[in-house]
Parts: sequence; C-alpha cells; structure tokens
Amino acid sequence: MRGIANVNFKNKRVIIRVDFNVPLDDSLKITDVSRLKAALPTINFVLEKGGALILISHLGRPSKRDASLSLAPVAKKLSQLIKIPVQFFNDCIGLETLNKTKALRSGEIALLENLRFYQEETLGDTNFARQLAGLADIYINDAFGSSHRAHASTFTITRFFKNQKYGGFLLENEVSSLRSILRSPASPFVAVIGGAKVSSKIDVLLSLIQCVDKIIIGGGMAYTFIKAQGGGVGKSLIEKEKLSAAKKIIAEAQEKNVSLVLPVDSVNSLEFKDASPSCVSDIFNIPENCMGLDIGPKSISLFTQHIASSKTILWNGPMGVFEFFHFSRGTRLICESICTRTQEGAYSLVGGGDSIAALKKFSSPEKISYVSTGGGAMLEYLEGKELPALKALL
Ligand code: AMP
Repeated sequence: MRGIANVNFKNKRVIIRVDFNVPLDDSLKITDVSRLKAALPTINFVLEKGGALILISHLGRPSKRDASLSLAPVAKKLSQLIKIPVQFFNDCIGLETLNKTKALRSGEIALLENLRFYQEETLGDTNFARQLAGLADIYINDAFGSSHRAHASTFTITRFFKNQKYGGFLLENEVSSLRSILRSPASPFVAVIGGAKVSSKIDVLLSLIQCVDKIIIGGGMAYTFIKAQGGGVGKSLIEKEKLSAAKKIIAEAQEKNVSLVLPVDSVNSLEFKDASPSCVSDIFNIPENCMGLDIGPKSISLFTQHIASSKTILWNGPMGVFEFFHFSRGTRLICESICTRTQEGAYSLVGGGDSIAALKKFSSPEKISYVSTGGGAMLEYLEGKELPALKALL
C-alpha cells in the first residue's frame, strides 16, 4: 500500500473514503466523535497540501434514502472540529453532485450523503463506483473499519485510480500496529478475548494460538469452553454446536504450548437482568437455575496476575455483561489492569466496539498504546485473512 506523505495534492480533487459511521442518539445527536477525530490527520494534511477534498462514508445500514441516517449532522460536527466550513452535498452521485464537486477550490472540503442510500454500494457495483471515481483525481482510503468489505467505495472504485490510489494515515497506522503485534510482539504476549459468542471468535483464537504465549478467555464465550470440559454451567450462554470447536481450540493450544486461561469462578443470576447477583460459584458448578453473567473474584485475580507479567496485550471483548452495573466488575478490573500494565511499559492494543465502550466507561483510551477503529476488520486481519480493500490498494 502506498502512503500519502509524498503525494502532490496541489489543485487536485481528492476523494477520501472515511469511516464516519458514528453513534447517534434518538435526537440524531452524535454521541461519540472518535471516528471523526481519527480521520483528521489525513484530512488536514490534504487540505494543507492544497487539495480540494471530497469525503465519502456510510452511516448505519440503510438500503435506501433514510433521513434519520443522513450524514448532514456529521458535516456540522466535522466543521466544528476542523474549524473551517464543511459543505454538505445531499447526494453522493449524479450530475448535481459532479458539478458541485467540480466547483470545489483548493483547501475546500465537502462531505457527500450516505453511500448506503444506494444498494449499489454494498453490492460493489461498477457503475456506482465509476460515478464516485469520476468526482476526483486521487483516491484515498482511510476507513480501516470497512476494509474487510468489498464495497463500491472501498474496493471497486480503486479500479478507476490505477496510479492514484493511496492508504491514508489512519489506515497505515492500523495496519502497521496490527502487523507489528502479530510479527514482533514482546513476550509474554497475552490475548484477552471475551464477548458473547465463541462462534464469532473461533478463527481469531486459532490464529492467535500461532503467535501468543497465553490466551485469557472471559465473557459469555467462556461457558462453552467449560461445558466442553464437562462443567455444569446451568443456564449460562452456550453454543452447543461449538463444543467441538472449543475442544479443538483447547487441544491446539496445548499442542502449541499456549496457556489457555479460563475463568475459575462465575458471578451468577437467575435472570438476564441488572439486579444483585444470586450467587458466586465455581465455574464448573454453576447452579442449574442460574446463568453466569460475569467472571468471579478468583478469576479476576488470576487474569490480572497474567496481565501484570505480560509485555504485549491484545484485548477484544468484555469479560461479562458490563452494560449491567451488577455484572460489570470483571470487565472494569481487567480493563484497569490492562491500562496499569500499559503505564508500566507493556504494549497494548484494544479493538472492538464493546471493548472500546468499556475502556471509555471504566478508564480512558489514552491509557492504551493503540486503540483500533476496526472491529470486524481488526478480527479478520488478526485471523490472517486478506482484507479486500487493502489488497485493492496494492
Ligand atoms: P461480542 O459482540 O461477541 O464481543 O459480545 C459482546 C457482548 O457480550 C456484550 O454486549 C456483553 O454484554 C455480552 N456478554 C459478555 N459476557 C456475557 C455473558 N456471560 N452472558 C451473556 N452475554 C455476555
């Protein structure tokens, strides 16, 4: 992938695929501007170098025009952040859009309407991509979070920019951070993996076994591993059809000499709701009428010991139902221990929507070495899969 540092942007129209898929509340207010801030280095650089900027992004998952998913509020917010006006064009293709983008002068910036108002975007449609490409002289992809998708704006469009397609600073940063954690991690390298389901993490676990020293498993997915070893997990979240996958992961870890660290106790509830826990039990003996919603105190102490002796940490997925106050302690204390270890000199990389939400709730992203903006894209990269949008930039 070629970077943008030495590209001549003077008087060029530059289209940047950004990831402005920001969270909105019921009144359509943006609740978190991290994704906008993450795109600023590339945006400011191109503007300083005299380019005229056209930004394209998706927001949510509409398949046709939907006023509640317009990018118009994002243009306003971006304008406040970069302190210059950001024009908003209420379509992303068509003659009117073409004429408006042609009128953009060096140093000016416009955000186009949500790409996903057209189904052609997710279909990777060639004609749609050609129209987007026709708006600009140079293409930059800075949307790592969408790079595992072969969409029109991330993949097909690159065909129309043979020698004028680049990876932006954010994209470069994401790829080099993930590459270096996989290729040259300081040892001990500990992966902390949690979240609801084993099914979504099997491939990443199998891939991590090849490069880490330890894998700590928490969250709902841990119960499938316990069940696979004959434990009684009551009504806890279980994926019956993944019991053999869990056994395979256990065997593979053993073969590769990777310690698989599972919880030893569980904080349980009679129902899936935020109320005082009914009991804390050994994880192999959860009462039949209970479900485990958080790791217990002994597991917290076991996990934090492993984290405290690590030099590289990768974290993806909460340790319990951290959205419920009564079941958030495991995630909070593991999050805090990763932050503390980072302050002591370890390298940490955190990714995934829930882990970042937990990090913001319980500590601060500044206390982590690198916070990845890509959830699914990050997992696929770690799985060793080829990301189509990255390949298209070669
Ligand atoms: P994922 O998208 O797979 O990373 O899962 C994140 C979700 O897993 C969060 O919303 C958590 O509330 C949920 N989760 C974590 N631990 C458990 C658990 N023990 N039982 C049910 N859900 C859980």
